[in-house]
Amino acid sequence: MTIKYDAQGLVPAIIQDATTSKVLMLGYMNAESYEKTVETNQVTFFSRSKQRLWTKGEESGNFLNVVSIKNDCDNDSLLIQVKPAGPTCHTGTDTCWAEENKSSYGFFSALEDVIAERVANKDTKKSYVASLFSKGINKVAQKVGEEAVETVIEAMDNNDELFLYESADLLFHYLMLLQAKGFTLKDIEAELKGRHK
Ligand code: AMP
Ligand code: ZN
Ligand code: ZN
Ligand code: ZN
Repeated sequence: MTIKYDAQGLVPAIIQDATTSKVLMLGYMNAESYEKTVETNQVTFFSRSKQRLWTKGEESGNFLNVVSIKNDCDNDSLLIQVKPAGPTCHTGTDTCWAEENKSSYGFFSALEDVIAERVANKDTKKSYVASLFSKGINKVAQKVGEEAVETVIEAMDNNDELFLYESADLLFHYLMLLQAKGFTLKDIEAELKGRHK
């Protein structure tokens, strides 16, 4: 791989969790640490403070097991996807930005938050979500059933536009049902991952 090291012989390496896509930490590599990383499949940096090769996890055991290494468009930074053996930051947090190492479902996660907020505020006049929730969990479940049936009908009707519309209805109401039952998409992911082994 072509790597353009800087004047100090270093290249920044962004460490990203291969499963969750969370950025875990940033470190610097020299040519020797890069080669060691490739050979051992565990991330070794060049520590600027220690001025020596530093295998992340050498004391803590929280190694970064390499899944893939990519260089960027102009070869002056690396993106290394890993499976971390434990919390990556020496402060004990999952990432060096004190974040939890959990995947985000992007807009769907934002929707989960909006639904939670509407349910908490109980403004049944202004909010469809709040008003449906106020009628009880069985009503939410029933709506999921209706939207599922509508989705099936449009799938069989071969109408892509209506199929997409009803699919969105279904997913939205399903997110509400998950919330009503005290679950999130995370729990579904965990269940599906468990079956995958
Ligand atoms: P470790 O490589 O996890 O065994 O940690 C060894 C030492 O490296 C720690 O005591 C810290 O001084 C330092 N260290 C570990 N993890 C990080 C990190 N994510 N960012 C900066 N320094 C770290
Ligand atoms: Zn670049
Ligand atoms: Zn840190
Ligand atoms: Zn519908």
